[in-house]
Amino acid sequence: MTYLIANWKSHKTIVEAQHWLDEFSAPPHPDINLILAPPFPHLTALKQAASSHGLSLAAQDISPFPDGAYTGAVSARQLEGLVEYVLLGHSERRRYFHETHQDVANKVAQALSVNLTPIVCIDQPYLSAQLSAIEPVYWPHLIVAYEPLSAIGTGDPEDPSRANTVARQVKDILSVDVPVIYGGSATSDNIGTFFSQPALAGALIGQSSLDPHTFADLVKSSL
Ligand code: PEP
Repeated sequence: MTYLIANWKSHKTIVEAQHWLDEFSAPPHPDINLILAPPFPHLTALKQAASSHGLSLAAQDISPFPDGAYTGAVSARQLEGLVEYVLLGHSERRRYFHETHQDVANKVAQALSVNLTPIVCIDQPYLSAQLSAIEPVYWPHLIVAYEPLSAIGTGDPEDPSRANTVARQVKDILSVDVPVIYGGSATSDNIGTFFSQPALAGALIGQSSLDPHTFADLVKSSL
């Protein structure tokens, strides 16, 4: 299975999000799992339209805590039935919100407690520590996204063979053949070079997912 995940970050009002779905059109493919990660407030409103376009939903984050007195936090259980996936440990969360490896590990435990699939973002040179903080019992249930800092939002993607090497490294560290995807300035022009790498199972897309036609072109270039 190949994963293509659109990460909208803190972009789009609900009207803009609905317009994106009105405009998005890509041929369905049984081997490609298209996943949309909109901001929290849009998840409920977009669920049905996303599904009719063949898109599953992901949250961009969850609380490291269960339900309880944690003002402002969204617990994994509150997303049960609404999303299938959750992005965890994105470098922007680690950098701007000071999330630690242990915070991310706690979020993985919360996600899996309600069967949400964690998409754990990692980067060099920390990937060994980032992965090791997660309880080994959870490792077989992860999707791992390798997102080099130098490539995110810079227009300067990682060398695809280097991404492939890191994907192999991740599988070696975890001792399990989890899906490893790549993220960082992927476009319809370069996505094919990442998809042809044997250890990579897809891509996480930021900037190139914001316009529905650009993202549809990227999906078509991946088929
Ligand atoms: C990301 O932030 O996850 C990402 C891949 O962004 P971009 O595609 O814009 O580099």
